Amino acid sequence: MASEFVFAPPAAVSIPVVGQAARFPVHRIYCVGRNYEDHAKEMGFTGREPPFFFMKPTDALLVVDEGQTGTMAYPSLTKNLHHEIELVVAIGTGGKNIKAADAHKHIYGYAVGLDMTRRDLQGEMKKQGRPWDIGKGFEQSAPIGPIVPVAKAGDAENAEISLQVNGVDRQRSTVSKLIWNVGETIEHLSAAWDLQPGDLIYSGTPEGVAAVVAGDTLVGEVAGLPKLTVKVV
Ligand code: MN
Repeated sequence: MASEFVFAPPAAVSIPVVGQAARFPVHRIYCVGRNYEDHAKEMGFTGREPPFFFMKPTDALLVVDEGQTGTMAYPSLTKNLHHEIELVVAIGTGGKNIKAADAHKHIYGYAVGLDMTRRDLQGEMKKQGRPWDIGKGFEQSAPIGPIVPVAKAGDAENAEISLQVNGVDRQRSTVSKLIWNVGETIEHLSAAWDLQPGDLIYSGTPEGVAAVVAGDTLVGEVAGLPKLTVKVV
C-alpha cells in the first residue's frame, strides 16, 4: 500500500486554551528584540530603535499545562542560559499590512512565555554579525503556558509582568512599558510577513535577565493569566 509520506510527519504543535477542550494550533513563533527601554539599556543599547524580529521553530515550544511544572533540560554548548519573561500574543485572524488601530481584531488571546536564551552563543554571533539562531532557537527554548482568549484575559497589555527564580524576584515590570506596543508590533510584523492564524508573538522582555542553572525553578507571571512554572534539570 502506498504511503503519503516517506516517513511519519512531525506531530502538529498546539497549546491548550483555558476554558475549552479545543487546542490552539501553532503556525510560527515571532519574537521582538529589545522592546523594553531598561532591558535595551542592560544589553548595552539606548533609546527607541525600529522594532526588529527573530523567529524560533515551532518545535522549540515547551508547552506547560495550567498548574503543572514544565521540565527543561539544560541545553548543550552554553554556560550562560538566560531567562526572558514575556507576554505572548496569539494571532487568531491573519492579515498583511495591518494597522496598529486594527491589530486587536487579529488577536485570539494571550499567554505567558519564556524566551530562553544561550546568551554566550548569542553574544558571540552578535559580535560576528551572524544570525542569532544558535542562541535563540534551540530545543525547549520557548516555554509557554495556556492561552487565555482575549475576553477572559483582562488587560494583559497593561498588566504586571514578573519572573521569580527559586522564589526570588529577578524581573518585575509592567507590559505597558513596551517600547513598541502590541498593536504597533503587529503593524510592523504584518508589513514584513503575512500573519496567519496560529502565529505567536513573544513581545519582548523587561530588565533583569540573568542566568539559571540546573535545579532552578522559574515562575513567570503576567497578572490575569495562568502562571508559567518551569524547572531546569
Ligand atoms: Mn526576548
